[in-house]
Amino acid sequence: AEFRECDLNRLVNDTVLLLRRPCEKQQVRLTVEEGDVPPFRFDPEKIKQAVLNIIKNAQQALPGGGHISIATSLREGYAVIDISDDGPGIAAADLPLIFEPFFTRKGAGTGLGLSITQRIVEEHKGRVQVESAPGEGTRFTVELPLGGP
Ligand code: ADP
Ligand code: MG
Repeated sequence: AEFRECDLNRLVNDTVLLLRRPCEKQQVRLTVEEGDVPPFRFDPEKIKQAVLNIIKNAQQALPGGGHISIATSLREGYAVIDISDDGPGIAAADLPLIFEPFFTRKGAGTGLGLSITQRIVEEHKGRVQVESAPGEGTRFTVELPLGGP
């Protein structure tokens, strides 16, 4: 991995840029709230991939439109990225399985996105968590230590 001092808000905005157009076409509103996060060391290409996998899942969960809200913040030595959607949510029974390689509920899914995200976040000594309420939505939280790996 290539760790270097980077701006997390910039990384998040760069990532969101990749999905703006497809989300617009699908009536999915994408909003970013930038918290005050100081530069810290991470691998920008990998974190971009990790975040993109989560946002893509949110987009795919909103075929008829909706809202994806992304927020960065600082919490107890960690930079935090919250990614919430107001899609159908994840069944409680599926929650423990979604980070497993090849677990998918999609006809043509690979089931690899979240396992890759988790691996990348763990390489950074961070954590990725999920909360979901069926019928209300899903929130993924990525925490990355400011102190680096
Ligand atoms: P894939 O996208 O190929 O299915 P992932 O590892 O990215 O593989 O996701 C695994 C599964 O987690 C998805 O198939 C889906 O069932 C569930 N999931 C992930 N994110 C969301 C979300 N935002 N809303 C609803 N379900 C989700
Ligand atoms: Mg996926």
